[in-house]
Amino acid sequence: MDAAAIAEAAERLAGAKHIVAVTGAGISVESGIPDFRSPGGLWTKYPPGEYATIEAYLENPDKVWKLWHELGRDLAFAQPNPGHIALANLEAAGRLGAVITQNIDNLHQAAGSRKVIEYHGNARHLVCLSCGREEPLETGLPVECAPRCSCSPGALMKPAIVFFGEMIPSQAAMDAENWAQVCDAMIIVGTSATVYPCAGLPMTAKAHGAVIVECNVGPTEYTSRITDVFVQGKAGETLPALAAALGAR
Ligand code: NAD
Repeated sequence: MDAAAIAEAAERLAGAKHIVAVTGAGISVESGIPDFRSPGGLWTKYPPGEYATIEAYLENPDKVWKLWHELGRDLAFAQPNPGHIALANLEAAGRLGAVITQNIDNLHQAAGSRKVIEYHGNARHLVCLSCGREEPLETGLPVECAPRCSCSPGALMKPAIVFFGEMIPSQAAMDAENWAQVCDAMIIVGTSATVYPCAGLPMTAKAHGAVIVECNVGPTEYTSRITDVFVQGKAGETLPALAAALGAR
């Protein structure tokens, strides 16, 4: 781990009054949930055009359901790792205002983070496309057929996530945009900067004068464009070191 980068990041964050974190799939890799783009990630098994668009789900829900059933089963056993816990500790110490997450795995909440803005929803719940009712995803659901609601015959339920082609939930979009505009520092963790509009939030923060600290195993589009301090390494190692340097354990 790059101790000099941690020290520099801590120094740049020390005076900040409104720090927000933006997290992506990379922070949950050490919890055993593969990210989408790395070799072995879910996209390599389930191409996004076939499995992650709302059109695909509506056209062939039973086929697309297999991915979400598999992910739901994996999520049921996943535990937060030291990276999630470090962000929760920073919040508890009054150093972090919120986590804006693209993740759908509920692990920030499981780690103890209280202010979590779920930009892409939560895969541990189902929502009915007819009546809007939400219910927790049960692990025992059959894999062969997409879940149905009891509200009316054949009413389809979907994972309570934002499929490609769907709108970001308006409250989450507004809260995240507001944080991007008012924060004086943003910590970006484990995202490839490719899924918009969330990927634009760090640009907004930078344009409003925020310090950008990026934690990732490798450089991204952000690194040369907007990042002030790049902390290279696994989030489960770098974030606890950063939190400790900021006085949150
Ligand atoms: P991505 O897969 O495009 O990129 C992951 C990034 O994390 C990469 O830059 C990679 O270098 C980095 N990374 C990998 N392991 C890391 C580690 N241990 N520590 C730090 N960084 C690490 O993910 P994305 O940018 O979040 O976009 C994918 C989309 O897919 C998101 O919108 C998200 O909703 C969804 N997704 C969510 C989950 C989840 O909820 N855990 C998992 C897969 C995909």
